[in-house]
Amino acid sequence: MITVGRYAPSPTGAMHLGNLRTALLAWLHSRSQSGRHLLRFEDLDTGRVRDWAYQVIRDDLHWLGLDWDEEVRQSERLELYAAALSRLETYPCTCTRREIAESAGAPHGPEAVYPGTCRDHHDPARPAARRWIVPDQTVCVQDGYTGQMLCQHLPSEVGDVVLRRSDGASAYHLAVVVDDAQMGVTDVLRGADLWTATPRQVALQRALAYPTPRYWHVPLMTNYMGERLAKRNGAPSVRELRGGGKDAAELRAELARSLGWEVGQKVALDELLRAYRQSVLG
Ligand code: GLU
Repeated sequence: MITVGRYAPSPTGAMHLGNLRTALLAWLHSRSQSGRHLLRFEDLDTGRVRDWAYQVIRDDLHWLGLDWDEEVRQSERLELYAAALSRLETYPCTCTRREIAESAGAPHGPEAVYPGTCRDHHDPARPAARRWIVPDQTVCVQDGYTGQMLCQHLPSEVGDVVLRRSDGASAYHLAVVVDDAQMGVTDVLRGADLWTATPRQVALQRALAYPTPRYWHVPLMTNYMGERLAKRNGAPSVRELRGGGKDAAELRAELARSLGWEVGQKVALDELLRAYRQSVLG
């Protein structure tokens, strides 16, 4: 079966090097296996989307030498998400964050678990989100990049998942699962920040009778203080770097070295395809 991979940026601003490194790895993953590679703009959060960011992201990717076979925008696929939502067992939830926090008590793990506050009652006068009743199951996922296995008991470690927000927007977990299935994605390579969201996405795939792709969660790039790169802690944007005359082959080499790969001062994509096959695919 042919590999189909994707890079799925949120067009909420300029890309930094961490975003670009994940984009590079996703491209290397698809292309090193002669697979198809797709670009999907995750633009459902209309309050945060910036119209200029779509083209800046395309330009950043092209500048590094990356390409893709197809491009989609989540904002143009709302009917698909609505159709999937109607196939799932959900209930209206009108609780505020505060109400949920008050009924949850102290969190047990790193992530707050929704305690089921609105399962049996909601306030018809308030705009309602829709929550999916998670199955009483433990879902395990294995990661291709780290080899790690993660198991989560959905009711006690995740809780009922919001699939439509109270402003009517489809929530990320539903959109990503519908899109990956509809676009025929076989391999999801993305940032490690989404690793703990994977079991609930796999549970959604099962509930919707979709196949489960293989997962590759890659480390997030950090600065010298070990902090995740972000605009607020001074990470330069890729647009600024290329505007300042940075050489793409040199930046590719820097990104590769930040992953511990041994490359020269400048590196071509062909060489990185070989390095990826050797060091990641084995
Ligand atoms: N849009 C998400 C992000 O920018 C990525 C989602 C995914 O790859 O599943 O972090």
